Amino acid sequence: MPELVDIALWDGASALGTGRIAWDGDRITAVEGGGEGSARYAAIPGLIDTHVHLAAYAGPGELGWNSQWDLVTPDTERVFHVAAQAQRAMRAGITTVRDLAGGPLQLSVSRVFEAGVQVGPRVRVNGPVGMTAGHGDLFIPPHYDRRDPVADSPDECRALVRRWARQGVHGIKIYASGGVLSMGDRVGWRNQTDDEIRATIDEAHALGMAVAAHSHDTPSARRALDLGVDSIEHGTGLDASLWGVMVDRNIPVAPTLLINDRLADGTIQVGADAQEKAQAVVAERDANFAGAADAGVRFVLGTDANGVMVRFGEQHEEVRLMARSFGWTAERALRAATSDAADAIGLGGTTGRLAPGLGADLIVIDGRPWDRIDDLDVSRIVAVVSRGRVVSGALPL
Ligand SMILES: [Zn+2]
Repeated sequence: MPELVDIALWDGASALGTGRIAWDGDRITAVEGGGEGSARYAAIPGLIDTHVHLAAYAGPGELGWNSQWDLVTPDTERVFHVAAQAQRAMRAGITTVRDLAGGPLQLSVSRVFEAGVQVGPRVRVNGPVGMTAGHGDLFIPPHYDRRDPVADSPDECRALVRRWARQGVHGIKIYASGGVLSMGDRVGWRNQTDDEIRATIDEAHALGMAVAAHSHDTPSARRALDLGVDSIEHGTGLDASLWGVMVDRNIPVAPTLLINDRLADGTIQVGADAQEKAQAVVAERDANFAGAADAGVRFVLGTDANGVMVRFGEQHEEVRLMARSFGWTAERALRAATSDAADAIGLGGTTGRLAPGLGADLIVIDGRPWDRIDDLDVSRIVAVVSRGRVVSGALPL
């Protein structure tokens, strides 16, 4: 049974002192802290990114945002790229990811990893339920036939939720407003009617699935909350009028800071229209988020990493940015990326903490990131353990 001894432990909530952690396959068997020693290395839970998109080109070199790769590559080939992006995340210590516009490719990869056929992180998949000409539909040029399914009435929404459930998705994604990268819309455009969203949420909840809502303005956030969504994605318009209900209902928000900063400042080249949208989003977001964090709104790690604009492995940078932007302690930021992120996606009983009985997902790191958030850096990772296997680096002797 592998074990780490004489190691500083942080269990997903608080520091346990120096001690020992052991696991057997994908199951932590012992976590014993309380020691006073000054261990060099520390063990923390693997990070959890609640908002990613895995289906991006994973080969060497750069493919720009406007590449035709998505359109011309068959699914039989794309599935390998999905797996490679997830494995890249895993090796960087992100041992759980949730794809928020997933489908058959991500589900196949999730099951292959789960079965141990390939080594990979925990992959959760939310199936999208959006409208014709909505945010999700406007990534594909209009004349292309190969499109993700859309739903344009309450009945179609129900039917699409049921088809996703039949495929085995873990949750549902909706779009309450337009978006930044969707072509030709505005972030403040309404997506779907109340009746459509109500039907989607009702059906998803009836089938045991949580609903994540993309939202970039105040009306869409209010609508999504009124109609009963389980998380807010981006959350640009979460102004003071919504903090109370967010806190009362403990609704998680994936703030996706890094990607929108990069789109706004031109680090990522996407065209003038998307850049202007991102600049407006960042201005409104920054006006709202500091107050929201002070009010106790529950932000969790959610990057929108897509392998191009935010790469898999840059989650550490997003966590540091969260700490700075929200005025959080290092420990508060680290919880948002581990135990609280696990709870937010329904995996609190599986991962996100170092505790006997949970899955063996952990990072061995040279530092004390719960005291100094800048220690949370890929360059300081000594080893990553995913589902009990060392998947990068080596365990210290
Ligand atoms: Zn997204």
